This record gives sequence, C-alpha cells and structure tokens, in this order.
Amino acid sequence: MKKTLVMKFGGTSVGSAAAIRRVIEVVKTARPDWPRLAVVVSAMSGVTDALLGAAHAAANGEAGFHRTATELSEKCLGVLHELAPEAGEVEQIISAQLDEFSALCHAIGVLGEASPRALDAISSLGERMSAPLVAAALAGAGVPARAVDAAQIVVTDAVYQSASPDMEATQARAESRLGPMFVEGVVPVITGFVGATKAGVVTTLGRGGSDFSAAIFGVALGADEVWIWTDVSGVMTADPRVVPAARTLPELTFREISELAFYGAKVLHPKTIRPVVERGMALWVKNTFEPAHPGTRIVPDNGAARGAVKAVTAFKGQCIITLEGRGMIGIPGIAARTFAAVARTKTSVAIISQASSEQSICFVVPCKAADAVKHALEEEFRLELARRDIDSITSTDECAVVTVVGAGMRHTPGIAGRVFSALGGAGVNVVAIAQGSSECSISLVVDAGEADEAVRAIHGLIV
Ligand code: ADP
Ligand code: ASP
Ligand code: MG
Repeated sequence: MKKTLVMKFGGTSVGSAAAIRRVIEVVKTARPDWPRLAVVVSAMSGVTDALLGAAHAAANGEAGFHRTATELSEKCLGVLHELAPEAGEVEQIISAQLDEFSALCHAIGVLGEASPRALDAISSLGERMSAPLVAAALAGAGVPARAVDAAQIVVTDAVYQSASPDMEATQARAESRLGPMFVEGVVPVITGFVGATKAGVVTTLGRGGSDFSAAIFGVALGADEVWIWTDVSGVMTADPRVVPAARTLPELTFREISELAFYGAKVLHPKTIRPVVERGMALWVKNTFEPAHPGTRIVPDNGAARGAVKAVTAFKGQCIITLEGRGMIGIPGIAARTFAAVARTKTSVAIISQASSEQSICFVVPCKAADAVKHALEEEFRLELARRDIDSITSTDECAVVTVVGAGMRHTPGIAGRVFSALGGAGVNVVAIAQGSSECSISLVVDAGEADEAVRAIHGLIV
C-alpha cells in the first residue's frame, strides 16, 4: 500500500484564520511525500465548551443559546469569509448546524434535562462546522480537499460522551469512503471527536477525543504515521502553562506518554496511544505554530531501565474517599466489595492505597462522583457501619494527583526521596502516595491549591 499519513489539528490550530493558514502550509508541505494523506480536525478552540455550556444552561431554563448561536456564527463565518469567500455552500452548512443547535437546546429547555445522547448531538457540531470550514480553506488555497463527517465512518457503541469504536466496522467504511478520495488526489478533512452507533445515532469519544480519532483513522487506513499537531512544540517536561521553564522531550516511550496522558497531561488523549502501539505506527506530536521544530517522537518501549524523572503532571478535581474502622481487619472481601460498590456508580478510580494494618482503605475518585460513591459504600456496608466494624466513610476537599514519570525511574535509587524533599522544601504537604502502580511513575496526592507549586518543585529535579 502507498504511504499513508493521518494528521490531526487541535482546537487552537484551527481556531482562527491565521491559524488555519498555518494548517494549509503544513498540509501543502506534507502532501508531496504522502500520497494518502488524511486530515482530522478538532472544533475551533472554545467552540465545544460554548456548545456544551449553552446546552447545560438550557437544561436550567436559561435561553442563552440564542446568543451562543449568534457568536458562533460570527466566529465561523468570519473565518470562512476571510479564507474562502466563494464557499457559499459551506456557509449554508454552518448555518444549518447552528439551527440544529438552537433546536436541540430549545428541546432541552422544554424537557428541563440534557441527556448524554442530546449532549453528544450538540457537542459534535463543533467539529461538524470546522471540518467543512478547513476543507473550504484548503480548497481555496489550491489543495483539493473535502469535508468528511466521521459519523458516517466511525462506528461506536452507544456509550454517549465516551464511546468506543468497533474497529472492524470502522475499517471497512474508512477504506471504501476515503480510498477513492486518495486516488483522486483529494485530502479528506475529517471531523475528530465524532462517531455514530450502528443505527446512526451520533456519539462522541470524550473530551479531547480528536487525538483518539486520529489514532482510529490511523489504524483504519493502515497508516504508517500519525502526527498530532497542537499549540506547543511536542510533549514537554511539564505543562508550560504551569511551568514556564518546561522543555520539549525529543523522545518518549509509549509507556511514558500513556502514564502522562492518563494522569492529566492534556497534550495527548490517553486512548490515542494503544491503537497506535498495537499497529506499530510512528506517532509524533508537533507544533502548528512552529512546524520546523521536530516536536516529540513517541517510540516503542525499549526496555532501557535508565534515566530519572522525565516529566511531571497533575490533575485536579479529585477527592480521597476513606473507609476506616478497626473492625475492618479480617472482614473477608472488604476491598472487593468496596470496589464493586464503586464500580456500580460507573466511577473510575485513579489511585488506591491500603494501609498494611488493614484499618483503612483509601482511593481517589473525581470530586463530582464523590457523593454517589459515598452513598454506594454506605449502602454496601450498612451492616458493618451499624456494628461499628467500619467507623466512617469520608471524603476530602478537592485534591490533585501529581504524577512523576520516567521509564526506569523505579530502578534508580533515591528518586522518591528526592521528590519528597523537593516537596518538603516547597512547603507542600503530601496527603497520600501510590508508588508502584506502574514501572515508570509515582503518583502522590496533594491539596488542589498546592498542585501547581508541587509540579514546579518536582520539575526542579528534571535535569
Ligand atoms: P489541542 O487542542 O491541540 O488538542 P490541547 O489544549 O488539548 O490542544 O492540548 C495542548 C495543551 O496541553 C498545551 O497547550 C499545554 O498547555 C497542555 N499540556 C499539559 N501538559 C503538557 C505537557 N507535558 N506537554 C505539553 N503540553 C502540555
Ligand atoms: N472538540 C473536542 C473537545 O474540545 C475534542 C477535541 O478537541 O479533541 O473536547
Ligand atoms: Mg486536545
């Protein structure tokens, strides 16, 4: 098969006329080397937030969506008029999407409730506006391009807001839909983030999911490489918004990037990595605004158990739930019952730590799930609570999970000690620790208000 490349451009990269001009240059540069070149785009920056914000407000009886529709229309059409003034049909497509948005918000207002399915129908509109816009801009600049709605290709389950693809069905559709475009020399500009069930109901892959879309299309098209174009020069030692001194990492293993992404580094959606690794595709993270910078190459795990701290990340909005009681010692299956109860609330647990004395179990869940989790546990352990075998089930204020990543870190003596003295030196209190969740990371929990300070203190250890 001819060489195939999937390039994904994020929200900032398609967020203005100036940014889209950069995209056009990047595509023009790559095209001669890649006979099969597919582009995946995010919504313009801020659009998904605006759509979802208006939908939630509508559920509370607010009619702000009219204003949102007007603002989005100005934003999208302003850029369209600048880059592709001739593209009247795209103007009609965008207006139709915004009419649909208003109609859906109106319906949500009447019902007083925004179902996950309705939220997907609404949030998918961001990408369904940006793809025709970018395709028109490319065509206007002389690059034959056509917008493609991923809802017609990516077949998913019906788990709205976090759908998973059926790769076999997706693969068949991708090749039959996109293959002829490659032959014609047309660049497909595909909506990221979006899919649809077998029955054709629109779904989304979760916030930040356009990266995952790029990986899905990479696999579906048998791509050689996937390039994620964003607004920073690759994966860095920390979020540059938190640590201005953060540096680009020229190379990172799949394991390292998985841990970083899973523990909050927004630069790559965590679900992106697995399909790419499994197919042995090359994965790059690059900067649309500095295209000559090589960015970061994600490489297979090379087993080199070398090196110390490479990067540090944090995610906020987490709470620690603790079950405590001396009577817990020896109650069989208490951990299993605990996590089964948590699982019934469909909450995923980021970190677990059980004291060896067995007098307490604590674990970290998103704050927004904390109440539901507590109730589920109170229900499960009603008897034990009444008997005082379990004294309390409590939840903390908002915390952050700070994760230090580096392959081979655990084989390098003294790392944990250095991390804790750096935190001590910065006056940051560590609430809980979970070492050992994987070979290449250490996670610890701090108060949300101290998270940035903790990240900066640990970043000081990176040489
Ligand atoms: P896109 O819209 O291109 O997908 P995102 O906003 O989702 O972009 O992700 C890029 C952002 O991720 C950067 O602007 C940066 O602030 C943030 N980020 C967090 N951690 C890191 C990191 N370790 N390296 C690079 N960027 C990071
Ligand atoms: N537009 C979606 C979001 O903001 C998906 C993405 O940009 O990756 O979450
Ligand atoms: Mg992103």
